Amino acid sequence: MSDLNYEFDTLKVRGGYDPKEHNNAVSVPIYATTSFEFGSTERARNLAGFTEFGYVYSRIGNPTVGVLEQRIAKLHGAAAAIAVGSGMAAITYTLLNAAERGGRILTTAELYGGTIDGFKKVFSNYGIKIDIVKNLIDTEQFRKAIKEDTKAIYIESISNPNASIADIEAIANIAHEKGIPLIVDNTLATPYLLNPIKYGADIVVYSATKAISGHGNVIAGLIVESGKFNWNSSQFSHFLETYHTLRDFSGKPRNFIEVFRNFPFTARIRANYLAYYGATLGAFDAYLVLIGIETLSERVKKQVYNAEKIVNYLETKKEVSWIKYPTAKESPYKDLKNKYLPKGAGAVFSFGINGTLDQIDKFIDSLKIFSYQANIGDARSLVVNPPKTTHSELTPEEQKLAGIPPETIRLSIGLEDTKDLIEDLEQAFKEAFL
Ligand SMILES: *Cc1c(COP(=O)(O)O)cnc(C)c1O
Repeated sequence: MSDLNYEFDTLKVRGGYDPKEHNNAVSVPIYATTSFEFGSTERARNLAGFTEFGYVYSRIGNPTVGVLEQRIAKLHGAAAAIAVGSGMAAITYTLLNAAERGGRILTTAELYGGTIDGFKKVFSNYGIKIDIVKNLIDTEQFRKAIKEDTKAIYIESISNPNASIADIEAIANIAHEKGIPLIVDNTLATPYLLNPIKYGADIVVYSATKAISGHGNVIAGLIVESGKFNWNSSQFSHFLETYHTLRDFSGKPRNFIEVFRNFPFTARIRANYLAYYGATLGAFDAYLVLIGIETLSERVKKQVYNAEKIVNYLETKKEVSWIKYPTAKESPYKDLKNKYLPKGAGAVFSFGINGTLDQIDKFIDSLKIFSYQANIGDARSLVVNPPKTTHSELTPEEQKLAGIPPETIRLSIGLEDTKDLIEDLEQAFKEAFL
């Protein structure tokens, strides 16, 4: 189907898939196959030389995964997307692909715990250093912090766990003035609430483990490429490197920009990172993500509704010392929320319990509906104490910088009935503050 002009909700159930190419199967088939027949020696030659595109080996590409990639690209109006084995693989491949010859990534302290820890423990050993802007809201700080060898700005559109909102357009403009890309982790927003590419983001990454798949049953990652960033510059000399595998008919080696004009970034991730680091998404897992995306809007809409109701409820509780969510009374992110997230600021937020550490433990242990675990974006409501779990890799100093003091509780609101969720929180407060 030619789906260029369809709206989001049509693309999310149909985009990137033509049943006629798959024996008229209505639901996207799971291609449980390692490799694909070349058919003839001539076709094998064409595939190897990229003069013809086709599936060869499932580490590098698979038709079920391919539908997911095309559907995600369409949902963003993007040039291309690539699916990988986890959100962390998406982030790691993206950062290495941008800065693999060494350099700096400019970011904020308000990042997913694994991302910050990866920056510290792993990327530094690859010659990639990290600079941190302290105040996300003061975008001029980004301009001041860009150095000669800064290779990208990396931010979360809605941060985990405090639901801080980035001024994507302002930050994208600063990045582009300096000839570097803006990379946005859009996991908490999902493409239903926000399309960062619309505001100038060049690369968007997702943990599809979270609300995109939405059922807590699969680990997956996605990388989306706008197709607008110019990698043809001395800052990204690795994109100008020519490869024998990318040779033209005459045998002349070419680079990724020459061969994959509109999507050199994801093509290079596929050919270099997915091929050799190998964090491939399996066909069955891609299928689970596709099934999840079919109900993305409906799920996230209900989760946002529940989250806003629960924030209103928590604001009435004397046991709650603060709430970090853009609709909460003292939130400094109201204007940014209205601009970027008119449909809602997601279903993950944090609040502080005005009690002892024992009372916090008692509160968590007393919850009956909320599951105590590390995931977010699930159809089920979840609770966690980030300083002791998801963000425990951070030193107390870093936790302070990231805005997660010891009394922090993070909720991820699911699809249950609002009344039951509020009653569950109410009885847990009663137990903890007997
Ligand atoms: C969970 C998460 C990740 C990591 O994704 P995995 O799929 O668990 O590897 C990255 N960024 C954010 C914002 C996340 O919430």
